[in-house]
Amino acid sequence: MTPTTKTLRQILVKIADNHAQGVESLAVFDLDSTLFDVGPRLERILTDFAQEPEYQRKFPEQLRFFKNLKVHRKDWGLQDALVRAGLAGEDLKEFQEALKNFWRRTFFSDDYLHHDVPYPGAVEFVQNMLHCGGRVAYLTGRDVHRMGKGTAEVLLKWNFPLNERAELALKPHLSMDDAEFKTNWFLSVPEKRYGNIWFFENEPVNIHHTRLKAAHASPPIEIVFFDSTHSRRAAAPTDLPSIAHFLMDDEEES
Ligand SMILES: [Mg+2]
Repeated sequence: MTPTTKTLRQILVKIADNHAQGVESLAVFDLDSTLFDVGPRLERILTDFAQEPEYQRKFPEQLRFFKNLKVHRKDWGLQDALVRAGLAGEDLKEFQEALKNFWRRTFFSDDYLHHDVPYPGAVEFVQNMLHCGGRVAYLTGRDVHRMGKGTAEVLLKWNFPLNERAELALKPHLSMDDAEFKTNWFLSVPEKRYGNIWFFENEPVNIHHTRLKAAHASPPIEIVFFDSTHSRRAAAPTDLPSIAHFLMDDEEES
């Protein structure tokens, strides 16, 4: 059994044990780059940018490189893909600024969320948690106004549970800081309501903030680092369980 499989199975067993004793468990999942791979969303943004007549007119040279532009798993935003394509140079500021503005408009919008794809095993794992008697919360830095509608639609489209035992917690306003929003959400959970609380998250900034500010939560928040990609504003934790997918069988891993 690999460490990932072991981590996932132990959590499900614990949820089932708690349930058998009448104790509630809560599993909290970040969405972007934890349950969902946002790579396809980013690739779609590049494709649509390249099809705008205005940009075709302004940046014909640069758009020629777009055909082969691929977003890799470890990429954060579009910058890494631009570097690989040779489009990150200082002389291309106008082009980069236009793309960045286009990205800002599209990435954080209901419409483009539909291009996200769950990481392997994610849907089944979350469903399993409910089957074992646990509760689930999707805790995301996405804000209600720009992405609330699309988020609920895409969760349901992929068969992620969304019901009285699986709730969606979005930021009430885009100006809020992600890490503070998430930590405060944890602090609002009534003390000792749950036997165990797990938090699956890819962003080290959020992880460090939660560990620091919610250090005395009861029960303690057990964080699982999802090792996909992150902002690089803080170092990845080295003392937490780390997983890179949600598959429960060793054979499925490759
Ligand atoms: Mg995330």
